[in-house]
Amino acid sequence: MSKGALSVDTEHLFPIIKKWLYSEKDIFIREVVSNACDAITKHKRLISLGEAEDDGCNYRITITADKDERTITVCDNGIGMNSDEVERYINNIALSGAVEFISKYEGESGSGIIGHFGLGFYSMFIVAEKVEMFTRSYKGGEGVHWICDANGNFESEPCERDTHGTEIIMHVSDDELAYLDNEKLKSVLERYCAFMPYDIVLVNGKDETVVNDTNPLWQRNPSEISDEEYNEFYKKVFNDYEDPLFKLHIVADYPLNFKGVLFSPRRKSGYDSTESEIKLFYNSVFVADNIKGACPEHLVNFRGILDCPELPLNVSRSYLQNDAYVRKVASHISKKVADKLNSMFNNDREALEKNWNDMRAYFEYACMRDEKFGDRARNSILFEKAEGGFATVNEYLDGKDEGTVYYTSDKEGQSYYLDLFAEKEKPVLILDSIIDNSFAQYFESKNEKIKFRRVDSGFEENEASKNERLAEIFKKACGRDDIEITFVSLGADGAAALISLSEESRRFADMMKMYSMNGGGEAFKMPNSEALAVNVDNPIIKKLEGDAENAEELAKHIYLSAVLLSRTLTAEEAKEFVRLNNRLL
Ligand code: ADP
Repeated sequence: MSKGALSVDTEHLFPIIKKWLYSEKDIFIREVVSNACDAITKHKRLISLGEAEDDGCNYRITITADKDERTITVCDNGIGMNSDEVERYINNIALSGAVEFISKYEGESGSGIIGHFGLGFYSMFIVAEKVEMFTRSYKGGEGVHWICDANGNFESEPCERDTHGTEIIMHVSDDELAYLDNEKLKSVLERYCAFMPYDIVLVNGKDETVVNDTNPLWQRNPSEISDEEYNEFYKKVFNDYEDPLFKLHIVADYPLNFKGVLFSPRRKSGYDSTESEIKLFYNSVFVADNIKGACPEHLVNFRGILDCPELPLNVSRSYLQNDAYVRKVASHISKKVADKLNSMFNNDREALEKNWNDMRAYFEYACMRDEKFGDRARNSILFEKAEGGFATVNEYLDGKDEGTVYYTSDKEGQSYYLDLFAEKEKPVLILDSIIDNSFAQYFESKNEKIKFRRVDSGFEENEASKNERLAEIFKKACGRDDIEITFVSLGADGAAALISLSEESRRFADMMKMYSMNGGGEAFKMPNSEALAVNVDNPIIKKLEGDAENAEELAKHIYLSAVLLSRTLTAEEAKEFVRLNNRLL
């Protein structure tokens, strides 16, 4: 029998462990189970090197909670340890590592320390008041029975044990009895150990449940994974009931070494600013979720797994968020997402178009938010055409880098205008969200010779039909001197007049509305940007000129009818419209 006290000032150590890890108590499971996995990996490795005998054992890790004994037992059939190794790895090294760690990070308490910092083994004292270990080395010889209390006092003695491996018994402290509940254990195991590489079996009497998937999808070769498998994986891991819209499997080995799968979930509609949800792994061992910065900020909608075996060790959550390596991973992801979009655009257009309207906003946002992403991806941004089908700005302009892109923001409301474009066989793109409009502006800023114009933003003027007298009549009828009157040819059956809105001032007005600057206090007066395009082909216009008595009222009626095709009438306008109808009809 040997006895001793751990070589450091443990009186201070254990309370600190408890305090630091308090916010992430559950990780003791991860630490114990990943040590067990490591022990198995080491055994397999030694066999392959010819240094251990292959006894054909069925590698597994069992976890058993005993409510009567108040214990949680984790058992593996890995390499095990002899008494020298217990002395070296358990009694000394881990703790000196821990002490170093603590002195290094002193003052950082409460930052939610996570992960592999050589303190792993002792994290059991988060929940245990005493830890017992039975272990025997693959090399044979005596087993070791080791016991340590929460003050760091340990005892060890030889014991009988016939297999290699380690059994660890945590005697759970009064405050943490909740962990003895099988459901609780299961959910913690599923969170932290879901993809560890050997079967992890939760034993409950005769029941045995394997809680992990030992061959996680992201570790596999993408060419061997079917769409169904990706979809199932996504739904299971992210608790969604719908298939993802977009998936990306990254296997990077140089200069960065990481693997990942990213998904873009289906959202109800349009843009819904949910945060991305990224789970970070270290060689299939769960580290943390929602580490800011691990997913590029502009890819707001993505969910996924990142497995970074080069993740710096000794990490805290706040450290990870600022880490240069994590940032590099994020920028690599951004590039890959842009590449994937481009490749779908080029090679799988049909699939892209099918879900495009549900993803568009996120990609537009990403282009605007991140310069590099935008430069890579903006030419693959599609818009639906009013007549059906999709086109990029480039395609709309037949590959030219100048020209006008006509769009509608409201297919129903602007239908009259759309008909005019359809007659002339001029295509119109649908840009019907705030994000689309910002994207149009962004696109213009990147291509000075390309302009976006809404379908109601102006008509080609018929210079020959300019008519000063008519213009005066309409100005008066509209009740405004500042309204611009233009003369256009829209055919005899066309509307007598249409409202046009200058693109710039309308955008400005929209923006003002959005920032609701014209609410409250000294109201902000918007300059009215409406202009009236009078259709000289229409017989009523010709008639109006000759009917001095009714000219003004007719003109007003024509004006209000034009407004009706463009926007909702104000209360006053509606009243006047009814009055004119009654009089003139
Ligand atoms: P780390 O796993 O980061 O090395 P730990 O404190 O978790 O640090 O463990 C310290 C050492 O104890 C391990 O490196 C390993 O050599 C040994 N060890 C812990 N658990 C086991 C186990 N189940 N089987 C064999 N060796 C173990």
